[in-house]
Amino acid sequence: MAAMTTEATGASTGATPGATAESAAVAARAEAFVADLQEWLRIPSISADPGHHDDVARSAAWLAERLRAEGWPQVEVWDDTDALPAVFASWPAADADAPTVLVYGHHDVQPADLADGWSFAPFEPEVVGEELRGRGASDDKGHLAMVRLGVAAHLAATGADGPAVHLKLLAEGEEESGSAYLDALLAAHRDALACDAIVVTDTGMVGRDAPTVCTGMRGMVDTEIVFRGASVDLHSGQFGGAVPNPVTELARLVAALHDDDRRVQVPGFYDDVRPPTDAERAAWAALPFDEPAWLAGSAAGAQATAGEAGWSTYERLWARPTAEVNGLHGGYGGPGHKTIVPHSATAKLTFRLVADQDPARVLEGVRAFVAAHTPPGISAEVIAGGPGVPPLICDVDSTLVTTIREAMGVALGAEVLPAREGGSGPEALLATELAAPLAFLGVMLPSDRIHAPDERAVLPLLLAGAEATAHLWRMLGDRGV
Ligand SMILES: [Zn+2]
Repeated sequence: MAAMTTEATGASTGATPGATAESAAVAARAEAFVADLQEWLRIPSISADPGHHDDVARSAAWLAERLRAEGWPQVEVWDDTDALPAVFASWPAADADAPTVLVYGHHDVQPADLADGWSFAPFEPEVVGEELRGRGASDDKGHLAMVRLGVAAHLAATGADGPAVHLKLLAEGEEESGSAYLDALLAAHRDALACDAIVVTDTGMVGRDAPTVCTGMRGMVDTEIVFRGASVDLHSGQFGGAVPNPVTELARLVAALHDDDRRVQVPGFYDDVRPPTDAERAAWAALPFDEPAWLAGSAAGAQATAGEAGWSTYERLWARPTAEVNGLHGGYGGPGHKTIVPHSATAKLTFRLVADQDPARVLEGVRAFVAAHTPPGISAEVIAGGPGVPPLICDVDSTLVTTIREAMGVALGAEVLPAREGGSGPEALLATELAAPLAFLGVMLPSDRIHAPDERAVLPLLLAGAEATAHLWRMLGDRGV
């Protein structure tokens, strides 16, 4: 990390503009970058809505056309599987022995409607101060545009015709609707996608005053548990107290999911959990965390933190698995009252997993837990919502991750600490299917309101991110991955 400026993490974004050839090249292209991104953001490429699937295709065609214009020698729109159109591009390095790096992002966006509470039109992007406002400005079109700008800056800075690494780009078209056919897409194009490393742009930092690189994401198991008693609702006077009540019994099961220290009581749940290293815990402890501001802001007025005893909030979010009750339903909830013993009750539960938990093993444990908490007179059903998502963890000490930290550090003029994200995505699938190490480089902020009304991106950060990728390709060309 010798090359890194090590101002305290309180340093705001931006090394001195023009301090490197890459930053000068980014600055020279900044205005065109914003105009170009605005054009893309006007295409409402909402993958969740079949009414917008033509727009997803339009977005793919738009991106492919831009990549060709920017000089990428090979550009293809992939619509040969059940997946919505994805864009693939590759640009070989002059040096045949250079490593191959695949950049992953997505060009579809979350649904957005003025009526959801937007204070501006989601698909009429505009610049306000340092912000570019519009759906997709950050997640993830802004970040794919950032990568494109970074390639241009890299070439301008090095004066070369091709990048210092063999670059490949995959822009998926349905990440926001769960990447249902990504496995088919990867299988159909395994040869084209072959690479030595994967860099995911669909990611962010803890805060503008806390530049971080994501080094892991949680996995997930999704279940629905149904408790059934009689075949119909029963009169609570004629039968109440004499037969089991499925709602009461399911509530007892849900209450038994955690002990008083909020540890999950599913059998074997923690057996495979890999604890964070001491170095990671120290880095996370050094990150700023303003709990009242976090509660009032990101956590939308949540009134207190709560979670597994013995771990900080970041540790609970990034390195500890959870059991969450997403919904608990049963019986009568309408006006007035209805004196019944309900015939059934349903709980929707999700479990966030961390390295090295296996979704199939966790699901087995959940089935055993439900069986152990099903009383006589109740029949239980556990419905799994698919195979689950494995967790992903990066090798924090790998050349790939340390070089990303260094490249971001140069561009941001601040030390970049490792962090993780609590959510789940297709990263483990990418890393497994393509058998390559995966790392993250993105500058989304919690205040970007991704997936929510009023999405925006901080333009100086996108520009710094572009500069960081430009440094990264040069550095990886020198040192390999
Ligand atoms: Zn995204």
